[in-house]
Amino acid sequence: MAEQAYKLLIGGNLVDGDSTMDVVNPATEDVITKAPRASEAQLNDAVAAAKAAFPAWAETPIEQRRTVINAIANAIEAEAEDFARLLTQEQGKPLPDATGEVLGTVAFMRYFATLDMPVKVLDDNEGRRIEAHRKPLGVIGAIVPWNFPMILMAFKLPPALLAGNTLVLKPAPTTPLTTLKLAGILKEIVPAGVVNVITDANDLGAPLTAHPDIRKVSFTGSTATGAKVMEGAAKLLKRVTLELGGNDAGIVLDDVDPKEAAPQLFQSAFQNSGQVCIAMKRLYVHESIYDEMCAELAKLAEEAIIGDGLEQGTQLGPLQNKMQYDKVKDLIEDARGSGNIIAGGTTPDQKGYFIRPTIVRDIEDGTRLVDEEQFGPVLPVIKYSDADDAVARANASPYGLGGSVWAKDTDRAYALADKMDAGTIWVNKHAELDPMIPFGGSKMSGVGAELGADGLEEFTQLKIINMAR
Ligand code: NAD
Repeated sequence: MAEQAYKLLIGGNLVDGDSTMDVVNPATEDVITKAPRASEAQLNDAVAAAKAAFPAWAETPIEQRRTVINAIANAIEAEAEDFARLLTQEQGKPLPDATGEVLGTVAFMRYFATLDMPVKVLDDNEGRRIEAHRKPLGVIGAIVPWNFPMILMAFKLPPALLAGNTLVLKPAPTTPLTTLKLAGILKEIVPAGVVNVITDANDLGAPLTAHPDIRKVSFTGSTATGAKVMEGAAKLLKRVTLELGGNDAGIVLDDVDPKEAAPQLFQSAFQNSGQVCIAMKRLYVHESIYDEMCAELAKLAEEAIIGDGLEQGTQLGPLQNKMQYDKVKDLIEDARGSGNIIAGGTTPDQKGYFIRPTIVRDIEDGTRLVDEEQFGPVLPVIKYSDADDAVARANASPYGLGGSVWAKDTDRAYALADKMDAGTIWVNKHAELDPMIPFGGSKMSGVGAELGADGLEEFTQLKIINMAR
């Protein structure tokens, strides 16, 4: 077999995969390159290397771990342009968005490097002294999906390392390249075995999750796969953090100016061609402004420039992979019978997994497009007359990742936001993430939280020392 351009990182060595797999550019359907495909034996080697590296890394002073995380951030920043181009090629998103993701990755890493895990004294008197310590867990399995391969990695790797854990990192099969490029950087900066990178063809997530030497699985992906991760982790009572699917509702109140709000609503739903866990996935609009809002959104959808993310001016790229492309097309076909498509609904006659941004009106709850997670560039707009009823409909979902309320009267919006059942509710915005704000889902959208101090704690074991005086 010819030497592979991209390599796995196992035990501090960059190695070929035992086999290879094609990586396809979703904008052209051309093969970008062959990526290594790790075998289960290589997965086991990666876990063994992480296990062997754990005691020394856990003993390394936190200041030194901080320095390593900052050095990774600096190295990514120094190659930000190359990372961004590669990200656009493998993921499809427009180059400016890819650049934003890469620089966001750097910023998230630097944020985590500032955190601390001080010992908390819970009680201290002549009778006793009680201390709460945060200890690393061991080897972390970090599993990332294909919509934001870099920044979602940065939700996991820096806090896991700061807390003193070692890792086996696995990107999604269709977007392995930026993570493999990162492996080259990690080899130079991180002690051997502390971070290992493996790539698979959707076959190593299950053995990674079930591996007896993995102490925690930090997973971002679909709800169906998240449930499998929990099942795989249950036997050994591993810790899990699950960031899963969503069906975020936006509720627009009657005092909103449709012309003013439509661009922000459009962006909330269509960013990354709708392939965002916290994209707005259904929009409830008051009947008094419904027609106008639908018309404004349809206009924006018609005007949007879709194309190869490397071309200047592209606003929306393709769907990331054929499976997702077929799924979204299927949902649009179904919506033809349950609503009125007033923009999009078509696939341009060109190569690549493109779907025109699609607005569907006169559609109700109980239809597939409203009830399921579309994860693509199609937005159902639903009419309501009573705001409390809209909240009840928003809440009547097995998902609870995010949601938003839009209003001029922010007191009214706040009162409704308080009644919505999801991990994050935004008011007059949607999908804002910040590394210092904890993020997690309710119901079937997840277990636990990432980001912020809470996100760091999830990579630790609470340990109490209770001493008699
Ligand atoms: P997916 O669940 O198919 O895959 C995610 C990852 O899990 C991939 O790396 C995959 O190889 C791996 N995997 C596959 N089978 C596995 C198994 N049995 N055990 C362990 N890992 C396994 O998800 P996807 O299609 O890549 O991503 C889209 C989904 O992710 C959407 O539902 C979206 O909402 C969700 N998502 C959620 C968040 C969040 O933070 N809540 C963020 C991004 C995406």
